Amino acid sequence: MLLPRFRSLHATFAVTLLALLCVAMPASADPARRQVLVLYSLGSDSASAWQSRLNAGIAHEVGGGQGTDVPEVFDERLNGVRVGESAALAAMAPYLQTKYAGLRFDAVIAENYQACRFLSEHPDLFPGVARFYVNHGRRGWKPADGTGMEIDFDFERAIAVIPRSLPDVKRIVVVGDPTPRGQEWINGVRAVAPQYAGRIAFEFWDRQSFAQLYQRAATLGPDSAIYMFPTYADSEGAPGMPAVVARKLAASAHVPVYTYVDSLIVPGIVGGYVVSGERVGRAIGRLVKGQPADLAQVQTTIFDYPLARRFGMTELEGVHWLNAERSVWDLYRWQIIGGISLIALQALLISALMLALRGRRRAMDALGREREQLEDAVAQRTLELQAANSALEQQVTTDALTGIGNRRRMTSQINAELERTRRTGNPLSLLMVDIDHFKNVNDSFGHDAGDRAIVAVAIALAVDLRGIDSVARFGGEEFVVLLPETGLDRACDVAERLRASIAALRLDDGDRTIELTISIGVACAGGRGSADSPSALLSRADRALYQAKAEGRNRVVRSEERA
Ligand code: GH3
Ligand code: MG
Ligand code: MG
Repeated sequence: MLLPRFRSLHATFAVTLLALLCVAMPASADPARRQVLVLYSLGSDSASAWQSRLNAGIAHEVGGGQGTDVPEVFDERLNGVRVGESAALAAMAPYLQTKYAGLRFDAVIAENYQACRFLSEHPDLFPGVARFYVNHGRRGWKPADGTGMEIDFDFERAIAVIPRSLPDVKRIVVVGDPTPRGQEWINGVRAVAPQYAGRIAFEFWDRQSFAQLYQRAATLGPDSAIYMFPTYADSEGAPGMPAVVARKLAASAHVPVYTYVDSLIVPGIVGGYVVSGERVGRAIGRLVKGQPADLAQVQTTIFDYPLARRFGMTELEGVHWLNAERSVWDLYRWQIIGGISLIALQALLISALMLALRGRRRAMDALGREREQLEDAVAQRTLELQAANSALEQQVTTDALTGIGNRRRMTSQINAELERTRRTGNPLSLLMVDIDHFKNVNDSFGHDAGDRAIVAVAIALAVDLRGIDSVARFGGEEFVVLLPETGLDRACDVAERLRASIAALRLDDGDRTIELTISIGVACAGGRGSADSPSALLSRADRALYQAKAEGRNRVVRSEERA
């Protein structure tokens, strides 16, 4: 909330206006949470750096806890320096009373000189609410109505850090203002100065105009240093913003400028043993949470690294460095290590994966080869088996003596041909052949000669046939000839030709010659759609053969029977 420039006549009007605005928009509040008001001495535009440090500290302390019991923090600025203390203080009390009429705070905290004085001088404001006074620079002051938290600044350390960082320093110029607070600070240094008698000369520049200040600063020699307090006014009463004064002073001077508070470590100010706004904020944060705050902790040594390096001060120990130059490695060490580890891990995983894949591929290849070999072996075995089967089949259906087909093969051939005849209707003929008086051959020439005679007849029958015809030894000296696509007449012709060729056969047996004749019975199958069977066909041929025997042998007889 920005307070306009107050003048006594305008003040009442402005406060009324603000109060109306605040009533129209009451501060929203969660009644379950604790509520705390922080009163700041300075306005946002006069000390924004200090204010933002404080706020950061409070936020860190209050917000960084458990989160369950975080109080609600309200803040107000007295804006004392800019408006003038009396006007600000006069306007503030009714303003606060109106604005927070509906709220019941758990604590009110006053930060710094004006806020402390204001709160202590208004005991009727927020009756019954616990009060904490964070007081700096107002030595020996104690509030009558609350807890005083005095920041007891250590001037000894603040000055000691100058020769520690600048060993050749002979002259320390202390810059401050003529206000009572400025004088209190200056007196703090005056008390320390005698410790350095004979070694370092102290000068106190607190009674000159800002223009004179900058001019004098420019004349300082290399064995000098400046120690600067927040400076709000010059000897002529001209107001100044401490941060602006600090910047100008640093720009004019060629020597290191130390300061008292971290918010004044602006560009050009080297640093020093300072009050830290962020740490004060943390202390306030602890008060807000209801915890004790140790204000001795709010002072610390802070230096601007690039500037300190320019003055050759980088070997200092126990210093909190600002803007420290850090290498990429310093800044991102863990990110780099993490990144590299991650990449290494990934590479490792990928290699392991590739190894596993390669192993798997090898196993698959071996498996594939194994399978191919197995398939080859199976195919080979199958071929061998098929060959063995057909050899066996051949053997089982071949007559051992003559090498032509036996009864078994002939029976299946008759079956197959009958089946074909039934389908096509084409004729099929069968000859039943029997050697005449074969007993006599055996008897006259011996059994071996009989065997040779059987073989000779078989060969003679086989060579005289077409490719589609077949012949088999059906019994001892009986043969069957099967003639597909052949009718009864043509079959009789074939039979006659066979009969004649056997009759013409002469088999040598030593000095004797064996002559043979055969008798043949011819039968024909039923044709398309007939139910003729092998045994029926054979029987018909057999009966015709029987008839040929009966009629005197060495002849062909056709069966006229129908199927
Ligand atoms: P038919 O004219 O009536 O046929 O007179 P056949 O003597 O041939 O009488 P049949 O057919 O009944 O007799 C067949 C004879 O053939 C009987 C047997 O001793 C002889 N025989 C049968 N198988 C063989 C053989 O494998 N080798 C020899 N050497 N003789 C056989
Ligand atoms: Mg016989
Ligand atoms: Mg016979």
